[in-house]
Amino acid sequence: MLQRQYACIACDALVDIQSLKPGQVAKCPRCQHVILTRKYNPINSTIALCLSGLILYLPAVFYPLMSLQVLSVESSASLYSGIHALWQSELYIVACLVFIFCALTPLVKLIAALLVSVGVKYQQTHHNWYRRLLVYYIRADSWEMLEVFLIGILVSIFKLRDMATLHYDLGLLCFCLLMLCVVSLKVTMDKQLIWDHVDAR
Ligand SMILES: [Zn+2]
Repeated sequence: MLQRQYACIACDALVDIQSLKPGQVAKCPRCQHVILTRKYNPINSTIALCLSGLILYLPAVFYPLMSLQVLSVESSASLYSGIHALWQSELYIVACLVFIFCALTPLVKLIAALLVSVGVKYQQTHHNWYRRLLVYYIRADSWEMLEVFLIGILVSIFKLRDMATLHYDLGLLCFCLLMLCVVSLKVTMDKQLIWDHVDAR
């Protein structure tokens, strides 16, 4: 049975842990901190979340998030049109940052997580690119900031609600669902299980 040594992040103790079965939890013998949890069916759940996120991605980015009506003039904005407006206003760095953290990184994360999970499911983790793909996912995981963009939307709704009539569009629903899919990946994806598959090859 595969046995690995893990460091407890609470007390720095090194603990030998054997392969866990689904639902099992490994705790530190010194401080009882949970070191490792083996989730139920994490690969299929991750694939389902990635596919849902990829289906939602295009409407979340290109569909209008909300419409603003002042007197008889109505305008709508999507994530894409927001980035385009920032670029047109010569705020090039801000436009690039929003594009990278709110549009590009979530897409990279979803595709990388999908390919990694499919690789484990069909026992294709021996390829050279597989380990690199997993590292890409871990890096993208730290830089994805859809939640920050959503907070920006909520702040603008709060500020504009007395000045204009707001209509919420389909893009906002897709964006919120996309964010839920991407955030849920952090909980669902069992990176340790995937590393075990990579190292076993
Ligand atoms: Zn400990």
